[in-house]
Amino acid sequence: MTDHRFDTLQIHAGAAPDPATGALQTPIYQTTAYAFKDADHAARLFNLEEVGYIYSRLTNPTVSALASRVAALEGGAGAVCCSSGHAAQIMALFPLMGPGLNIIASTRLYGGTITQFSQTIKRFGWSCTFVDFDDLAALEAAVDENTRAIFCESISNPGGYVTDLPAVAAVADKVGLPLIVDNTLASPYLCRPIEHGATLVVHSATKYMTGNGTVTGGVVIDSGKFDWSTSDKFPSLSAPEPAYHGLKFHEALGPMAFTFHSIAVGLRDLGMTMNPQGAHYTLMGLETLSLRMEKHVANAKAVAEWLENDPRIEFVTYAGLESSPWHERATRLCPLGAGALFTVAVKGGYEACVKLVNNLNLFSHVANLGDARSLIIHSASTTHRQLTEEQQIKAGAAPNVVRLSIGIENAADLIADLDQALSAATA
Ligand SMILES: *Cc1c(COP(=O)(O)O)cnc(C)c1O
Repeated sequence: MTDHRFDTLQIHAGAAPDPATGALQTPIYQTTAYAFKDADHAARLFNLEEVGYIYSRLTNPTVSALASRVAALEGGAGAVCCSSGHAAQIMALFPLMGPGLNIIASTRLYGGTITQFSQTIKRFGWSCTFVDFDDLAALEAAVDENTRAIFCESISNPGGYVTDLPAVAAVADKVGLPLIVDNTLASPYLCRPIEHGATLVVHSATKYMTGNGTVTGGVVIDSGKFDWSTSDKFPSLSAPEPAYHGLKFHEALGPMAFTFHSIAVGLRDLGMTMNPQGAHYTLMGLETLSLRMEKHVANAKAVAEWLENDPRIEFVTYAGLESSPWHERATRLCPLGAGALFTVAVKGGYEACVKLVNNLNLFSHVANLGDARSLIIHSASTTHRQLTEEQQIKAGAAPNVVRLSIGIENAADLIADLDQALSAATA
């Protein structure tokens, strides 16, 4: 299967006709538990000597089909699905971290991630240092003996910024740490971070993967390439794991160590599991991912180019525009397109932004992105509200910008809607 191309994998990877009925589409296995064949079979499952289903907090056939499909699309060794993108981020960090340990993250992140990393993870005794990832020397200098991971987004939310993944991966390699990349905005169709050196990839499946705003979900994909045993920094994977009767995950499971630890310990004890119904919707969405992303990108380019040339607009930050400082990176790392999310600064500042949002008809005003529908949000008063103005500006969510998530409608209709709303906003 893995030698097939993307459009084939997005339909076939992870799926096979149901062995019981021949059902071609992956059934929704709406079940909590699975009958063991006998006591010996049950014991082998619990010992990870045999792979099988025990209880749906750990694994479920519908959810497993999705995990395998996403792993194939990202070029990973294994994947784990979770209840949300934010759950996926905690699940990615969980096997690596412990009290007193830290991560280094890019300043350019989804607002909710900045809050999760700057505030909430402190309750676990973890901490995060935020660095401008364009300053590779500062990134390297921020790493200390307690650092366990480096975290960034491939295309960042909301600013249309592209991270130089190969350069950041080279720093991670040099300091012997895993690089975790949130690939939500690009989707694996536009960018495959593992090919650029990422160890782990995380996704909010809520966005482009499902593609129609019906599901909250997340995925962690492991490249299977990081040597967890080369240092003593990752004892959960390299040393006997007390939370799983002393199993040495890396020694026993090799490139699947991270994935199995995430299921056997992470999902078992944190319980941030994806439900089979949600996995079904995301499997449906993935079948058309490449088709949707092509349309998203074509529409985003058309709308961004139109806005950039409009006198009512100060600037547009879309890496797909030739004027963008990240355009070269976008063509190198996302050759099929720089995604469909960008920000627009409207002349007239905060007031004009609010009026623009209020006067649009086709664009929906919601805190989501990556929907078939075009969406708009004024980040500074909503998703990035918890941040200081300095953090807002650093995150590309200054008070005078709105964020557009361009859908797959007709681009001329989207432009006409923006045109009339801009007239009302700047009158
Ligand atoms: C939405 C989003 C998240 C969080 O995902 P949820 O599914 O909402 O928990 C994380 N990262 C990025 C880039 C996102 O857009």
